[in-house]
Amino acid sequence: MQYHVNGYRYGDPTIQPAAPGREDGQGPLPEDVDVLIVGTGPAGTVLAAQLAEFPEITTRAVERRPGPLPVGQADGVSCRTVEMFDAFGLASTLTNEAYWVNETTFWAPSPQDRNEITRTGRIQDVADGLSEYPHVIVNQARMQEMLLDKAKKSASRFEVDYGLLATGLDVPDEPLAPVTVHLEETDEHGRGTGVSRTVRARYVVGCDGARSTVRASIGRTLHGDAQNHAWGVMDVLPVTDFPDIRKKAVMQSASGSMIQIPREGGHLVRYYVDLGDLPEEGRSFRDSTTYEDILAAAQKALHPYTLQARDVAWWSVYEVGQRLADGFDDVPAEQADLLDPRVFITGDACHTHSAKAGQGMNVSMQDAFNLGWKLAAVLTGRSPASLLSSYSAERQKVAQELIEFDKRWSSMIGSKVSDPDDPDAGGVAADDVEAHFVAGGEFTAGLSTTYEKSLLTGGTEHQHLAAGFRVGTRFHSAPVIRVADAKPQQLGHVHEADGRWRLYAFAGKSGFSADGDGHESALSALVRFLDEAPDSPVRRFTADSAADDAVFDVRVILQQEHHTVDVNALPAFLFPAKGAFGLRDYEKVFSAEKTNGRLLGLVPGLEATHDIYDLRRIDRERGALVVVRPDQYVSQVLPLEAQDDLARFFAGFMLEPGNDG
Ligand code: FAD
Repeated sequence: MQYHVNGYRYGDPTIQPAAPGREDGQGPLPEDVDVLIVGTGPAGTVLAAQLAEFPEITTRAVERRPGPLPVGQADGVSCRTVEMFDAFGLASTLTNEAYWVNETTFWAPSPQDRNEITRTGRIQDVADGLSEYPHVIVNQARMQEMLLDKAKKSASRFEVDYGLLATGLDVPDEPLAPVTVHLEETDEHGRGTGVSRTVRARYVVGCDGARSTVRASIGRTLHGDAQNHAWGVMDVLPVTDFPDIRKKAVMQSASGSMIQIPREGGHLVRYYVDLGDLPEEGRSFRDSTTYEDILAAAQKALHPYTLQARDVAWWSVYEVGQRLADGFDDVPAEQADLLDPRVFITGDACHTHSAKAGQGMNVSMQDAFNLGWKLAAVLTGRSPASLLSSYSAERQKVAQELIEFDKRWSSMIGSKVSDPDDPDAGGVAADDVEAHFVAGGEFTAGLSTTYEKSLLTGGTEHQHLAAGFRVGTRFHSAPVIRVADAKPQQLGHVHEADGRWRLYAFAGKSGFSADGDGHESALSALVRFLDEAPDSPVRRFTADSAADDAVFDVRVILQQEHHTVDVNALPAFLFPAKGAFGLRDYEKVFSAEKTNGRLLGLVPGLEATHDIYDLRRIDRERGALVVVRPDQYVSQVLPLEAQDDLARFFAGFMLEPGNDG
């Protein structure tokens, strides 16, 4: 994080100076906004935090509740979500507070007495090298609080407009006309009071959960299995003799399955207790199920161990089916080439699934992260509105994959464990559950998302130049040393959620040196192209008045040791002038030198013997250019010489300043 750029400033550097006009906050909800977010769950708060980075965009969020969510709902935070939190500058707060899921144990009926459970397996929860971050557990309410705090500290001084329920919206036929959103004020229980008002918005995003009003208003429907399977969820402070009480445990007892997840703070534990398929009377079953019913089922599943709940922080009966919306925006498929979307749905509003794979909150947040930078690019004039149709195209496929995964995992974990003494009774082997869990590790870590070739995602022709940065997947960070101050760090952690593109230029063997005949190296030519050529994306798409790295953040990684680099011999382009004093930015150049294990979370010892070129299989001879989207996904792997390809790629979806498309 950089600060003091415009002069020394006393106090908390995470509080950005307010944008002009925002010194006293954002003021009352105006009649016209650029973006109206409906609902502030995980999806809505990520979108708010992202758009708050752009004070020139008027973003508001309405929420039916009278204030922030106090407790409850989702809790599992995948590695990918922690990586995203890093981009928001929140990963250290999150990982400091969180419970880390280091080990998962598996329990099944004992062969001696099938009414008792016994441990059948134990695995490391996240495989070595998958991410530099762990899988953690933090209450959804706290996650949302962190994001809203970040948004409030931004230059926008963003705050949620609580106590407002969206009741419907009108999307005019005129393509560029704003959408009218009908709102009703709510009481302290979130119920409508009959006092209504309207807001006009260029874009509306429905982050309003499974019963989404926005979804219904644009005529989208959820397809799939209706809600039919119930889980009791409770957060308790237990006293127990269960030996794995501070470990995640997947239990398949003879009386039913249960997942135990220890929580942040060292004492709290969450139980997901399978209550089975809902009877015909559905809702009344849910309403009549009590916390005591859930606790009794948990106690039975844990036998012979005992469980007393000394306090109950929260409980709920959670029933969900696997359902997917037929599209994630307001443009019917047959008009996709003709119209640009103005209304979007995210998270539970467009996909619901069970809680067993712990993906609800995570995928919802990733939806919003995907959409946020695109809305910002369009509203700041960097891209045409047609960019926005890529949101539904990319995220609907991800949701479809999630639902398929969830079906397989739900069926596995919902099955009874087979009894070797009664092979005819069927069921799954205890080992199969563990094997399935391990096989799904990359998926549940949130790391299997792969965007297909499109305007935003290139082909794989040059993938061999950096095989470990798979095109279409998230940029998999690895350690480097920052040349200017010898700081060992994760390269991916330079990537802030600020809507900028990252161009990582990995030097070939010659680095910046000319060859014996005096020919310029590929890296040197690339940097010169980016700095000087009229068709350089940096020159074409960055306003003259903005810093050189305002749109494209170019980073160079050299193979030589950091103390052999003469910073004054490097191109001035790599030290862009910043702020009121034109200060040089010294944080663009890195060495691939091995970091001797001083960093968080990689394979122990591996980083001491392998550098980023080894870890991500980068061609040492030729180097590579890795182009990364604002939401941290790899768009392109190109040769350093591929200047024309680079120029063509960005020309496909970016606008020159002053050109409104
Ligand atoms: P939500 O979290 O549902 O947020 C929607 C927000 O919109 C809410 O704040 C709501 O008040 C607001 N809102 C709704 N309608 C309107 C409107 N018309 N106008 C204004 N505001 C509106 N997932 C797990 O992974 N594990 C769990 O244990 C788990 N337990 C759950 C328990 C319950 C009771 C529920 C309801 C969900 C649970 N989930 C769980 C699912 C998980 O919470 C969701 O997948 C995730 O919260 C989805 O995020 P979202 O932002 O899309 O929607």
